[in-house]
Amino acid sequence: MAEAKPEKLLVDGRRLDGRRPDELRPLRIKAGILKRADGSAYIELGKNKILAAVYGPKEMHPRHLQQADVAVLRCRYNMAPFSVEERKRPGPDRRSMEISKVIREALEPVLFLHLYPRAVIDVFIEILQADAGTRTAGITAASVALADAGVPMRDLVAGISVGKVDGTVVLDLMKEEDQWGEADMPVAVMPRRKCITLLQMDGNFTPQEFRQALDLAFKGVEQIYEAQKEALKEKYLPSLEEGR
Ligand code: ADP
Repeated sequence: MAEAKPEKLLVDGRRLDGRRPDELRPLRIKAGILKRADGSAYIELGKNKILAAVYGPKEMHPRHLQQADVAVLRCRYNMAPFSVEERKRPGPDRRSMEISKVIREALEPVLFLHLYPRAVIDVFIEILQADAGTRTAGITAASVALADAGVPMRDLVAGISVGKVDGTVVLDLMKEEDQWGEADMPVAVMPRRKCITLLQMDGNFTPQEFRQALDLAFKGVEQIYEAQKEALKEKYLPSLEEGR
């Protein structure tokens, strides 16, 4: 059953979960958790729980889908039936197909796809539990999984959503804020180059709010980028130090 809209989403500068407008939800990223994938990552952002797995680069089958001069990046965003309040019908739908496409476009700019002609790199993003911001958290996890797979990359990609609730620009919307707020803008960034690779918007910002939201997204991305690097270090530093 649909929940009723809370009277206020912001009370005395605090959000429903006690956060200030510029605060992220608790974030945890772990790299390399699946034995049989070439690369993998798990992310928790608030109540979101998401797995990303990478296979490849490997020869593309069927062969008619091969590209003679580059590798194909294939992304699949999938929500588990138990990931949302009411059972989600399994399988692809318009939303997941759109999200898979924008995730691919958000990740492509960091990859050297011309190094692997006729190959495919498969990225699977499995949403185990959803609480808004899954496409951006999925991108964050997928880029760690690509790095874990040893795929050469120019940079990582870190994603976060920003939005507006009760007239205030806020970072990292939770489900209630996504549902009842006035705007939701997912953003993905190559953190070192400060290039945007995804920007979507649902709702309305004034030009000033838009700039404020973008600034906030860049601040959030910096924190996410640190957590991505930490996750990779946690997996790889011990073995590098052992090998010294
Ligand atoms: P994102 O997760 O990237 O913010 P949306 O804005 O489309 O993407 O969705 C916001 C949230 O709405 C999701 O994270 C999820 O919690 C919820 N949601 C999305 N699709 C469904 C669905 N089919 N059934 C129930 N809840 C959904």
